[in-house]
Amino acid sequence: KNVLVWFRRDLRAFDHAALHHALQCGGPVYCAFVFDTPILAELPRDDRRVAFIHASLMELAADLEQMNGHLIVRHGDARTVIPALAGELDAGAVYVNEDYDPAAIARDETVATALRAAGRELRLFKDQVVLAKDEVLSQAGKPLTVFTPYKNAWLKKLNLDPGLVAPLHVEPHAAAFAPGRSTLPALARLGFDEVDLAAVGVTPGMTGGAAAFEDFLPKLAPYGTARDFPAVHGTSQLSLHLRFGTVSIRHLVRTVRELAERGQAGDGGAVWLAELVWREFYQQILFHFPYVVRSAFKPVYDRIEWETGPEADELFAAWCEGRTGYPLVDAAMLQLNRTGFMHNRLRMVTASFLVKDLGIDWRRGEAYFALKLNDYELASNNGGWQWAASSGCDAQPFFRIFNPVTQSQKFDADGTFIKTFLPQLSRLSAKEIHAPWLAAGKVPGYPAPIVQHDLARARTLQRYEVVKK
Ligand code: FAD
Repeated sequence: KNVLVWFRRDLRAFDHAALHHALQCGGPVYCAFVFDTPILAELPRDDRRVAFIHASLMELAADLEQMNGHLIVRHGDARTVIPALAGELDAGAVYVNEDYDPAAIARDETVATALRAAGRELRLFKDQVVLAKDEVLSQAGKPLTVFTPYKNAWLKKLNLDPGLVAPLHVEPHAAAFAPGRSTLPALARLGFDEVDLAAVGVTPGMTGGAAAFEDFLPKLAPYGTARDFPAVHGTSQLSLHLRFGTVSIRHLVRTVRELAERGQAGDGGAVWLAELVWREFYQQILFHFPYVVRSAFKPVYDRIEWETGPEADELFAAWCEGRTGYPLVDAAMLQLNRTGFMHNRLRMVTASFLVKDLGIDWRRGEAYFALKLNDYELASNNGGWQWAASSGCDAQPFFRIFNPVTQSQKFDADGTFIKTFLPQLSRLSAKEIHAPWLAAGKVPGYPAPIVQHDLARARTLQRYEVVKK
């Protein structure tokens, strides 16, 4: 019977669970992607992620055609488009890779119901994680909400069964593809603009993902120390590719483990692997506790009274636009606004600044990041924001408050990162650049600090008192 593989956040034609299993049924196998209008409706015309998806689909379609398959691309509401397409193709089943985003789960349930009504089925596969939401649980069968025990259990499982990261091949089964011509509407037809992704250092598609990983491998050994410095290109920049599945998580983990076995991963190998485990940790948290999308993971933190009103709105706008008067915070926000990327250290610093220096609800910052980040992913973004706000599982304690000046002195000591985005501060010495208000005379074109950190810190400790009651 015909099978339809519906691509979503898995835009590659190799090591792909749903495609692998569909082809093994013998075919004919059709492939489709839907530009889903309920998602697109929320996005600006120049959204980089839509341009990234579009370019990645071009490569995916070409690769499928090389294997005698093709890619059907539709524009509409996936909840109706997919059941209709399955009908047109007379597909007995639609194969997809599982997504833990609550909105995606609801969408998939609607699609499954419509398919069932027509005598078809939706089959879900694990693909974007090494260990699925219910594969790493406590001895009592409960989700693990503290990272270290989760990571230890995760690593133990993988050590016991390295087959978990074995490739799920596509090409050897290519005879099962249904031949045909791909259809990919131009971005303008979808209501979006072309975006110069190269200008922000992004190469889309499987080629871009493979190149980013190649580029990173020599940096793996020193990753443990280099990863904290935003002026150093010390991290993989693979988050965007992991988000859209232009790399395979199995391939990444397998490669790092092989390097480690050969003694070539240095100390950094284990540290980087732990970051990939954080990603899966937050994914299973989102699955088991979907209320975190709106509420604090620890409910008592929803008692906190955040700053609201016109003054708070002005502070929020200053944070968004990078004019808080704290150079590291501002340079980071400018990096986000101009490139769609922000270094992890800076995500922590800017998130902490919004919540604990400005007293603004973490949900407002989370929504801003969601709009701007190329690699935006609900699970990691929510996890990161709740970590910074101390309301999350395994978050930093509420009395730990980043000092934006000492963070700057520590992680951008000579101001190289700051100067990239704030050239007006170039003439300041390495000592002055972290706190320009201490420099002799005003710096033209740079604002005075919008809050005083010491006072803000005291207010925050007061604000968080409610969580102790
Ligand atoms: P590397 O350091 O090379 O790490 C490798 C991979 O591990 C990353 O690509 C990512 O998939 C994963 N990873 C690393 N750190 C984390 C983490 N703390 N939590 C979960 N996964 C992690 N990451 C996103 O992918 N999307 C988001 O929307 C997102 N929002 C964040 C918001 C805040 C407030 C914070 C503090 C962190 C957020 N992160 C998010 C996590 C992290 O900052 C990025 O994954 C990382 O900066 C991406 O750069 P990289 O690919 O070079 O990472």
